[in-house]
Amino acid sequence: MRIVILAFALVLSACASAPRSDPADLDAVARDYVRLQLEIGTHEDGYIDAYFGDPAIKAAAEAAPRALPALAEEADRLLSLLAVATVSEPMLERRRDFLRAHLVAARFRIDMIGGARAPFATEAQALFGVTPELKPLSAYDPVLARIEALVPGDGPLADRVQAFRDRYAIPSDRLEAVMQAAIAECRRRTLQHIALPAEEAFTLEFVANQSWSGYNWYQGSAHSLIQINTDFPVFIDRALDLGCHEGYPGHHTHNTLLEYSLVRGRGWVENTVFPLFSPISFIAEGEGNAGIDLTFPAAERLEFEARVLFPLAGLDPASAPAYAELRAAMKDLQGARMTIGRMWLDGEIASRDAALDLIQRYQLVSRARADQSLRFTEHYRSYIINYGIGEEWVAAHLAAAGDDPAARWDAMARLLSEPTLPSDLRR
Ligand SMILES: [Zn+2]
Repeated sequence: MRIVILAFALVLSACASAPRSDPADLDAVARDYVRLQLEIGTHEDGYIDAYFGDPAIKAAAEAAPRALPALAEEADRLLSLLAVATVSEPMLERRRDFLRAHLVAARFRIDMIGGARAPFATEAQALFGVTPELKPLSAYDPVLARIEALVPGDGPLADRVQAFRDRYAIPSDRLEAVMQAAIAECRRRTLQHIALPAEEAFTLEFVANQSWSGYNWYQGSAHSLIQINTDFPVFIDRALDLGCHEGYPGHHTHNTLLEYSLVRGRGWVENTVFPLFSPISFIAEGEGNAGIDLTFPAAERLEFEARVLFPLAGLDPASAPAYAELRAAMKDLQGARMTIGRMWLDGEIASRDAALDLIQRYQLVSRARADQSLRFTEHYRSYIINYGIGEEWVAAHLAAAGDDPAARWDAMARLLSEPTLPSDLRR
């Protein structure tokens, strides 16, 4: 009897310790995945958003990168390995699914680097794992009517809104002080809910000639370079937007948590590389935007801006509520950017001039700012869904945690420190 029980126990433990794929298999796929991503990066500038793994691996990948067809084969090989990998616990399942989704994106991007183009929605699904459902432009006409009432007068609405907003531009000699104060407050509030390593820090830099308004370059070891583009005057509301989005709890916080919880904590090397055109960018841009409202609920935001940022910028704090009202209304136009981008990239707008007209009409910006926005769309293409739809999905995910702010911050912390895919937000 005793022998039978022992034998049974042995069988059980054999089953538990030897599923069809153990973590070691995923480790091998992950190592080859990192090499693959770094080699793809040699074929497209900007494809690798961040890498903070072993420098020798990067040097080796860049010294002898394979040609695109060989990289496509390698992506297919890794996908076929994952297709037969079964894993024994939910977190490993998420690790496998994360690797698979990022390989699907890499495989698609390899074809794009080779010149292939697909419809906007197909591209978005392949790269980011989300099929965008976009409203027609006519859905935004009622929002324009609301804004008309906020900024009455003659001439095109875009001109009036631009003139109104110009009064809220941060003078360039005060920009650094305003940005530092904004980021410091984003950081202070985030640290009340999310623990970051003691060595965590960022450097702030001002640059020009970019199609983006801000960028966070993660350097590893909890350090980031945050760049702010000064091609156009920075409006006062952008200070908290950029501080949260690029810094806390946005990209800098996200990358730091990925490195410390997944790479250092679990040894999951796939997280040492951040490929820009992949599902993690949907999470990154979505949480970067949704993190603004999480960190600054509307009333607290207005209070902080009027009390601290307006005086620092030399603006009249009494004028803050009027600007906040316009800003809230303008936010409802956010989706129009994606609709126009899709129409332009899918060849549904006759000329670049016509596309700029639509951006001015539905984003209410100057011609020059419309041009910057269109250049961004032309360069990053379906990536633009990550801001609007990403924010919607992350905000809904946080709201599902309940009304208690602490529960929402908990949900945010998990989102940032686990291998999260867009589909996880809908569970
Ligand atoms: Zn971003």
